[in-house]
Amino acid sequence: MVNEGLNLRLNTSTVQHQERTDQVQQEKVIIIGSGPAGLTAALYTARANLNPLVIAGHELGGQVSLTYEIENYPGFPEALSGQELVEHMKTQAEKFGARVELFTAVTEVDFSHGSPFTIKTDQNAEYLADAVIVTAGATARHLSVPGEERLCGRGVSYCATCDGFFFKGKHVVVVGGGDSAMEEALFLTRFATRVDLIHRREELRAGPTLQKRALANEKIHFIWNTVIEEILGEQAVTAVRLHNLKTGEITEYSTDGVFIFIGHDPNSDLFKGQLERDEFGYVITDRQMRTSIEGVFAAGEVQDRFFRQVATSVGQGTAAAMSAERWLADRE
Ligand code: NAP
Repeated sequence: MVNEGLNLRLNTSTVQHQERTDQVQQEKVIIIGSGPAGLTAALYTARANLNPLVIAGHELGGQVSLTYEIENYPGFPEALSGQELVEHMKTQAEKFGARVELFTAVTEVDFSHGSPFTIKTDQNAEYLADAVIVTAGATARHLSVPGEERLCGRGVSYCATCDGFFFKGKHVVVVGGGDSAMEEALFLTRFATRVDLIHRREELRAGPTLQKRALANEKIHFIWNTVIEEILGEQAVTAVRLHNLKTGEITEYSTDGVFIFIGHDPNSDLFKGQLERDEFGYVITDRQMRTSIEGVFAAGEVQDRFFRQVATSVGQGTAAAMSAERWLADRE
């Protein structure tokens, strides 16, 4: 059913605009992104009879689908892969009426006129949505060195909480000098026998508390003024090629794992100028997951700088869906 807002647009538009909007699909709720936050929002809005449409992006599940095994998601005492978890979430949401548009990315949004909001995709589709839930996730920064992509999931990791356990009794290196690198290096000392922290400067960016704890930990050894130039190994990581930026020396250094924590970037460029974002680019929400635009909600890593866990994203997706449902009900 075409609502009043759309009628108004059609009546006042040019012929060219008329042609374009003829193909516009009207939706109650569109969810942008198909990670745990998005698929949970889909489940909850589907169960509220809102028939949500998930625009999945090019990789169903986003970051979590890259995780080899997830052992810390409640309810699954036997580890399952990120891909399996995402498939379960998708199936469950679809069971209640959610539709998931695979291999489709949102290319443009227009939130400036209020609800209904315009969304365009790289499949040349255009939608009008009464409410939008943004769950576009974040992307871990990569080193972009040879071997990194090839050995991802085979010793190269961007998540100590997910993969640390597999390095019990082994030797790992951690890259980065910020809070994430310190926190994750400390976490890895529970499993690894030795953790070498490789930082490109001789001063840490991390705050004093984490710095102090990392520097005091016997298992953590610092390799200063050094970058990784290449990650080596055939089937799994066996070594890294290090470049000392001060001396120029290049060395090969044996290791079983490379954990990279050089920052994350929220996938929020699409919303620049439309939704309020913080200084790091994360979409700002309140406790009800409302953004700066009424009717647009956000959940998961696109708005979460601190937790970045499947379990927290699922909770935030639930909250965003419930808020969207209440907001839509109040309008009626
Ligand atoms: P970050 O603070 O931006 O630190 C990134 C680190 O990676 C920096 O030390 C940086 O080196 C290094 N780096 C960046 N690009 C690199 C490259 N290409 N090669 C080698 N090293 C590179 O990121 P973060 O640690 O993920 O933290 C992000 C935000 O979350 C921060 O505000 C942080 O305080 C917050 N956070 C807080 C906590 C906590 O409070 N418990 C925990 C985690 C994160 P340089 O120092 O030389 O730039």
